Amino acid sequence: MRPHDILIPQPDGLFCRPGDFYIDPVRPVARALITHGHSDHARAGHGAVLATQETLDMMRLRYGDNFAGSTQAINYGEEIRLGTTQVKFHPAGHVLGSAQIAVTCGKLCIVASGDYKDVADPTCAPFEIVPCDVFITEATFGLPVFRHGNPAAEIAKLLNSVAVFPERAHLVGAYSLGKAQRVIAMLRQAGYDAPIYLHGAMETITRYYESRGIALGELRLVKDAKKAELAGTITLAPPMATADLWTRRFPDPLTAFASGWMRVRARARQRGIELPLVISDHADWDGLCATITATGAGEIWVTHGQEDGLVHWATSKGLSARPLALVGYGEEDEEAALPASDEAKA
Ligand SMILES: [Zn+2]
Repeated sequence: MRPHDILIPQPDGLFCRPGDFYIDPVRPVARALITHGHSDHARAGHGAVLATQETLDMMRLRYGDNFAGSTQAINYGEEIRLGTTQVKFHPAGHVLGSAQIAVTCGKLCIVASGDYKDVADPTCAPFEIVPCDVFITEATFGLPVFRHGNPAAEIAKLLNSVAVFPERAHLVGAYSLGKAQRVIAMLRQAGYDAPIYLHGAMETITRYYESRGIALGELRLVKDAKKAELAGTITLAPPMATADLWTRRFPDPLTAFASGWMRVRARARQRGIELPLVISDHADWDGLCATITATGAGEIWVTHGQEDGLVHWATSKGLSARPLALVGYGEEDEEAALPASDEAKA
C-alpha cells in the first residue's frame, strides 16, 4: 500500500479512503476528524465529528449545540479503529486540545500534524514527536527568516514597557483562541499579578480555558472599567480591535501585537504597532526542520504556508518531499492569515 492509497488531498480536504473520513475538511462531510478548534480547521455542518473534548467544546462554543450530527471525544494516546485504519491523536502544542492525527494502515503510518509548535506553552500539552513514515507539516513560517526567539524575552519587553510608561494603557493584539490565553499565562509566569483586562470578544473562550484548569489570575472586562482606571494596565484584544475607535476608551494607548509575523519590522510599522512581540503558536523555521528530522519520516508533505522553502530543504536532506494542494487554511486563524503576498506589499 502506498501513502496515497491511505490519505489523498481532495477539494473537501484530506481524505482517508480505507477509513472513510476526512481530516479538517473545509466543506461539510459525513465523517470528520478535527485537529484543533481554530475555525479554518474546525468547521460546522459535518455528520460525525471525532476530536479531543476541548476541540469539541470550542466548536460548540462557536457554532452552537447543533454544530455536527454526532460527536465523539478521543483522548491523547487513545486508539480508535476506523475501517481498516487505526487512528491515534497526539498533542500538537498549538492551542488547548490541539492534536496531531496518526493514521496507520497495514505497516504504514502517516501523521497529519495540523498546526503545531515545538516550544513550551503553559496553556496546552507539549508537542509530541510521533515516529512515522509520512509526516504532513504546516509551513506558516516555512522560511529561514522566521526565527521566533525566546517568547519569555518578549513578555519581559512588554512588562518593561508597562514599567517605563505607567500612565499609558497597553493594548496587546492577540488572536482570541489560544494566543491571548498564552500571553496572559506567560505574564503570570513572569510574576505579573495585577488584573488583566479583556476585550469582550475574548471572554467566553478565556473563561473556557479557566474551566479546563488553566490558571489566568484576575481578569476584568474593559467595558466594566472607567477610562482613568486603565492607565498602566494591560489589555488583551483581537488584533482588529487595536486599530479602531474602540481604543478611544483607553488613556494614551500603546499598541502591541503578539504574532510570529512581528519578526517582519515593515509589517509592524504598516499596522501601526509600537511594540511588536514575536510570540507565535506556529513552529518557526528551526522548529519545522527539527521536527521533520525527529519524526524519522522519509516522506514529507507540506501544506498551508510557505511550502516551497520547506520542500526544498527536505529534498536537500535526501527526503522525498512535495507540497500538498490543500486550500482553505489560514483564513480564520489570524496568525496564519497574513499571507506571503501581503509580505511583498510591505
Ligand atoms: Zn491553528
